[in-house]
Amino acid sequence: MIKYLQLQMQGDAYLKCVNPKCGLEYPIMSTNVQCENGHVLDVIYKNKISPDLKEVFYQRRDSKGNIFNESGVWRFRELLNFCQIDTEDNDECSKYLVSLDGAEGRQSKPYQMSKAAEFIGINKEGLWLQPEGYNPSGSFKDNGMVTAVTHAKMVGAKKIVCASTGNTSASAGMFAANEGIKCDVYIPAGQIAPGKLSQAYQFGAQIIQVEGNFDDALKQSLDDAKNYDGYTVNSVNPFRIEGQKTIPFRALEYLNWESPDWIIYPGGALGNTSSCGKALMELYEWGWIKKIPRIAVINSEGASTLSDLYNGKFEDEELRWNKGNPNTELISRYYDHLDKEGLRPKTKATAIQIGRPANIIKGLRALEFTNGIVTTVSDSEMLDGMSVVGLNGFDCEMASGASVAGIKKLMEEGIIKKDDVVVGILTGRQKDAMIPVDYHSNSKNIFANPPKK
Ligand SMILES: [Zn+2]
Repeated sequence: MIKYLQLQMQGDAYLKCVNPKCGLEYPIMSTNVQCENGHVLDVIYKNKISPDLKEVFYQRRDSKGNIFNESGVWRFRELLNFCQIDTEDNDECSKYLVSLDGAEGRQSKPYQMSKAAEFIGINKEGLWLQPEGYNPSGSFKDNGMVTAVTHAKMVGAKKIVCASTGNTSASAGMFAANEGIKCDVYIPAGQIAPGKLSQAYQFGAQIIQVEGNFDDALKQSLDDAKNYDGYTVNSVNPFRIEGQKTIPFRALEYLNWESPDWIIYPGGALGNTSSCGKALMELYEWGWIKKIPRIAVINSEGASTLSDLYNGKFEDEELRWNKGNPNTELISRYYDHLDKEGLRPKTKATAIQIGRPANIIKGLRALEFTNGIVTTVSDSEMLDGMSVVGLNGFDCEMASGASVAGIKKLMEEGIIKKDDVVVGILTGRQKDAMIPVDYHSNSKNIFANPPKK
């Protein structure tokens, strides 16, 4: 067990099981990622946060050299104040809040990209794409990792652990190195191209190979965290979700807190969907927004667990949050079915190549709250989406192309309307050098620009 710092803070934040029938509560210093009945946990704030802070947040955009105002995460610190500090006291901020010199989330905001709008067929004034790839480790993960590592430090953890084959390990390794704590990265032995872990190696993380698949690696990392003083930073960690709330905060702030009609995410482990849902639930309850945007989750055709279950493609039942009572047996039967048939998630967009989304329960809650929808796109559609983003001067990974391709598909189906306001999240930067090279070398691709002889 991790020895907690003996901090007795009289605050208003605590952990609560998401299942309304269970609802077990834990103090904020707890490192549990589940209640004792196996349900995931939320960070809950007892006090409503006043929308008057909108003006404070706006003023902080002129950071005046304060890294916590510069940070796109900590600029909104009152909305994720699980440390329960005086957020205007710079010494307290410096003591508690982890930050890479204010770089996390700093460059993230929504941009209009006219070539993407033209490709999609939507009014260019209504389409906003928000690149999260300009975070310091190159993906949206830094938003949530900075808060998870803040909590890790709060409880006195000396080592963080995760199972990851890409962006999570890069982000965890970077913040761990910067804070002088250890980082263990669990991977399935022999299944991961070493290049995918190059950032984790660069940041000095310890790679641990586990016999089996990714699920086995995750299980081993959770067990080792429990037994050997590690602190889990996979997205089952509720503090990851807190930091990722700032992705929609930045989009909404940029739109003067007027909700768009849609927020679109690629669907992987569903941490983003979960955090967006929680952010919107809180903002709506606290009177910051009047309208609830609809979330659309875009799965890859080759890794379509959520789409299959949500859209009733498995056993003809549409899986729903169902007021906190989702049919978890249906999910288990679906996973058994994948195992029995030997079905492995398969897409070149490795960031969303996930068969068992760790945050499916919170994701379902987010979809219910926002009247959300789920669909799929093919690898070639994602590559076109990724490529047209590039033609606007922005870099993104293949999985981010799912947002563009998903908006286009939902437009063509008449679900998203031409004059809707849509925010699509571009989750990460290109880390696989050969994907754009291969795309542009094949003249059959829509946006290909092959080399000349
Ligand atoms: Zn519970």
